[in-house]
Amino acid sequence: MNEIFENTSHQPSWKLASRQEHLEDTGFQVGSHLIGAGNFSIFAGPCAVENKQQTLTIAKSIAAAGAVVFRGGAYKPRTSPYDFQGLGEEGLDLLSEAKKETGLPIITEITSVDDIEKFMDKVDIIQVGARNMQNFSLLKELGRLTIPVLLKRGHAATIEELLLSSEYILSGGNENVILCERGIRTFEPYTRNTLDISAVPVLKKLSHLPVFVDPSHAGGKFWLVEPLSKAAMAVGADGIIVEVHNDPDNAMSDGDQSLTLERFDSLMLTLKKLAPAFNKTL
Ligand code: PEP
Ligand code: MN
Repeated sequence: MNEIFENTSHQPSWKLASRQEHLEDTGFQVGSHLIGAGNFSIFAGPCAVENKQQTLTIAKSIAAAGAVVFRGGAYKPRTSPYDFQGLGEEGLDLLSEAKKETGLPIITEITSVDDIEKFMDKVDIIQVGARNMQNFSLLKELGRLTIPVLLKRGHAATIEELLLSSEYILSGGNENVILCERGIRTFEPYTRNTLDISAVPVLKKLSHLPVFVDPSHAGGKFWLVEPLSKAAMAVGADGIIVEVHNDPDNAMSDGDQSLTLERFDSLMLTLKKLAPAFNKTL
């Protein structure tokens, strides 16, 4: 580990994200819900918004189970240009309908600076995906907003690089940043990525920002979601973002890692039971 991490008298270059001058955990409101500050928050929903029926079915179900934010991709940054790219603006409108029906705030991914205007009135948390963690022009623009940003760790990004990327947003004046560990690329092909579970306590030590885990993209398989979610809670994460689908076998993206509605209900019950043991409110 380099001196920036170890030497506590050294002022790290991610000074706004650092815990050195900001000892308390940061918490902030999203709608009526407090993120961080002792809460374990569950964001859930489909990888991609596909149609009205799918979106509303999932949103109503995860809301009833106790999720606090609805996720769904409208602009999908797919590895292959031949895969479903998302519904775009129509997807944002379906997310707004889901919010109207359930009251749940919306998180969705932004892939381009050009879309910021469209996100402004419709989105409660803007997600920056792994592929855009170092899209510095995008990060700078998000720094000018007050809408919270969930910043995912890049596939091959170090913890320091994640913190420096968060600094781009914070230094623009936007203090509402959530860091998200979503698995990194390693030599192990069995899981889609390797969940760097150690990154959670490391980030909590170095930074005051809320830290989330994405067990879905980390494991790539639905049956890994529950054990990885439990691990996230046990190591001190402030929440998880989970993919849920009403019909995973026919999902347009990431069906293998998506929980059914019933499996999500069961995950919620398990985490609610465990929360007191880890000093978390859920
Ligand atoms: C997603 O959340 O759907 C997504 C694309 O995640 P990541 O950026 O972590 O790959
Ligand atoms: Mn996905």
